[in-house]
Amino acid sequence: MPDNDSPPQLQFDSDSSVPEQVVVRAAQLRAEINRANRLYYLENAPELDDAEWDGRMQELLALETEHPSLRTPDSPTQRVGAPPADGFDEVVHPVPMLSLGNVFDEDGLRAWYQRALDYLELESTPMVCELKIDGLALAITYRDGVMARAATRGDGERGEDVTANVRTIRSVPLTLEGAEGTAPPVVELRGEVFLPNSRFADLNAEREEAGLPAYVNPRNSASGSLRQLDSGETAKRPLDMFFYALGYVENAEEPASHWDALQAMKGWGGRTNEWTRRADTVEEVMAAIGNAGEVRESLDYGIDGVVIKIDSIAIQRRLGYVGRDPRWAIAFKFPAEQAETTLKAIHVNVGRTGALTPWAELEPVVVGGVTVGRATLHNKDEIARKDFREGDRVVVQRAGDVIPQVVEVSSRNKRSADSAPFEFPDACPSCGTNTVQTEDEAVTRCVNATCPAQFERLLEHFASRRAMDIEGLGERVAQDLPRLGFISNIAALYNLRSRRDDLLELDKMGEKRVDNLLTAIDESKFRPMSRLMYALGIPGIGSESAEWLSRRFHDLKGLRKATEEELLSIDGIGPIVAATLVAYMAQEQNEDLIEGLIDLKVGARDETPEPSADHPVSGVTFVVTGRLDSMSRSEAQSRIKILGGKATGAVTKKTNYLVAGAEAGSKLKKAQRLGVHVINEGEFIEFMDAGIVPIAPGPVGNSDAS
Ligand SMILES: [Zn+2]
Repeated sequence: MPDNDSPPQLQFDSDSSVPEQVVVRAAQLRAEINRANRLYYLENAPELDDAEWDGRMQELLALETEHPSLRTPDSPTQRVGAPPADGFDEVVHPVPMLSLGNVFDEDGLRAWYQRALDYLELESTPMVCELKIDGLALAITYRDGVMARAATRGDGERGEDVTANVRTIRSVPLTLEGAEGTAPPVVELRGEVFLPNSRFADLNAEREEAGLPAYVNPRNSASGSLRQLDSGETAKRPLDMFFYALGYVENAEEPASHWDALQAMKGWGGRTNEWTRRADTVEEVMAAIGNAGEVRESLDYGIDGVVIKIDSIAIQRRLGYVGRDPRWAIAFKFPAEQAETTLKAIHVNVGRTGALTPWAELEPVVVGGVTVGRATLHNKDEIARKDFREGDRVVVQRAGDVIPQVVEVSSRNKRSADSAPFEFPDACPSCGTNTVQTEDEAVTRCVNATCPAQFERLLEHFASRRAMDIEGLGERVAQDLPRLGFISNIAALYNLRSRRDDLLELDKMGEKRVDNLLTAIDESKFRPMSRLMYALGIPGIGSESAEWLSRRFHDLKGLRKATEEELLSIDGIGPIVAATLVAYMAQEQNEDLIEGLIDLKVGARDETPEPSADHPVSGVTFVVTGRLDSMSRSEAQSRIKILGGKATGAVTKKTNYLVAGAEAGSKLKKAQRLGVHVINEGEFIEFMDAGIVPIAPGPVGNSDAS
């Protein structure tokens, strides 16, 4: 595998007819595209937007076509994506998942169609037009009508086994309908997974609440959701899928046309896209593309073009491939909805979790029918990389329901002589505390728990229903209390009773409301530790991780002294959260706050026992694989969770038991390799129903396996 991070290799080709600057440019493009691919596919952190990526790819393709000696084996034109990340089993695609060539206008489309006809020596051949959904390509194999494996595209040859995660997507059939009769014994269905636009905002709101960085766009979030190592996490994401191709068929007759294949998949219960239509001429294709552009805004998923395929499978075979692109299909890409305007000012907001979020104040401009006056600049690194400066002419883009974003400095931009690079504040704009940026995160944060800008929102969050549930402490009171000098940190909330008379003088706060509020505050002292941990609003600690933490640490005293190592040994707590939590506890103002809460005995009550905390399954980590007879895997997983256990998707050293059903495959092998206890369905049911522990649980590797 080529090292994508290495600097461009300036190999001066023996072909001396290639000018030096062309060789250098091609190397530069390869390096940029490889880096962008890696960030996009492996880290879910796109660096180039689609138009930029396409632009570089087109330029590189053109250079390589003109000078074939430039086409190195590691050129991104020779590959589709990136190898799988650690954590998922690798899948070799029986039939490679290919990329598509792109065209951007009618001339390009006409040229593609004519090349195909010339090759075939035909006058015309029917085509099928499909919406090009902005998601993640998947290949799902069904054996005897039952879902056996789902894999991401990866680099086209090898993808990742995301079966457990894909099973959580409701629109993906677990068994094909008519399996007894019509579905082939082995069939691979391909399609696109996406996150509906309507759910994207909700997901980002939840992430913001948990102190996680927001996803840039729905596709990015679909990829992130599908590649969760814990399929339980994926299950919470409202992913959806459309099927658009048959990958391969074994021991059965293949449909004669792509259109027939779509109808067959639909008949088996696979969701296909209703918009799909046939076309016999380039004019009809162009009309379809025009229609797609019109309906685009009304769809609940992003599309970035239309895919045109030659319908006949026999003709597809004859046409074959050029390099990695099929000759029988092409993507017509829409131009992104963009407009140029002036970046008037760069502002930085401070959120509840202290995230410093830069945004652009723009000269209002219409983009895709909507007036845009402000747009996101994502983060500090993005501003530096693209060198956005106040006063610049910039390109603004919006797609669907996505927050408008500033894409780049306009190429026609002429900077004034006194323009200077934007300096992202080193200190919080509100409180002046030095900001923190963890290595793995693009987000810059103020970690001061008493930061005024954060405090009002933190207070509101602290009192919210899922946190400490303090009735009467809503948005307005959360603003008034700090602004009128009643409290400057959370702990002071519990001393408010001594200032009852002052509170009574607050506008609109009658005696009854004040007393109710004070009572509600007092009562909140007795919320379980998990609620308190969540309520503190520590970055990365949502209600779920707060619960995991509270199983180990029953009060703030213990948590305060926790080391990174201790935290990392808790299932579900990763290195970023562990480091953030330790940094949080070490911060002076936070130390005072925690000290204050301990003195006031907030959260000091014993945790109300979970309904099943004493069941032996509680706290035990399972992976369920293979086919179970008496229940589905999702049923098994939810039973584990109800009893206080953890059901994850990937076998790791932290796995206590692998529940192996029929035809268990790679996970069983991995469990055996790692020495994880393997139990059968019967043992599993006894464990669940009667609490009979099959064998002493792990962690393996430092116990019986060594
Ligand atoms: Zn601050």
